[in-house]
Amino acid sequence: MLIFCPHCGMRPSEEFTPKGLAEAPRPALGGDDRPEDDAWQDYLHTRTNKAGQTNEYFHHSLGCRRWIVVHRNTLTHEVTGSTMASEFWQNQQQAQDWEAGQ
Ligand SMILES: [Zn+2]
Repeated sequence: MLIFCPHCGMRPSEEFTPKGLAEAPRPALGGDDRPEDDAWQDYLHTRTNKAGQTNEYFHHSLGCRRWIVVHRNTLTHEVTGSTMASEFWQNQQQAQDWEAGQ
């Protein structure tokens, strides 16, 4: 399988380390600037095994060492695109802001 790194171009998947779904936002900070234990527990250990189109973190660990989000179908393994992780979250935030303004 090949994965497109926005920085390096098309690279073999063996250069990347999958790091899980990019769709679960980190829990908000609670008292003492720490996430609530239950929210943190869920974030770290309770994950869905989503079937279909997903957004997943990959670390280009044997390349530029940047974090990217790969858009992949877990049923067909088709990779439909990828973006830098920072750009992905900026787009997510803009979409949320747009929806909140409606
Ligand atoms: Zn790269």
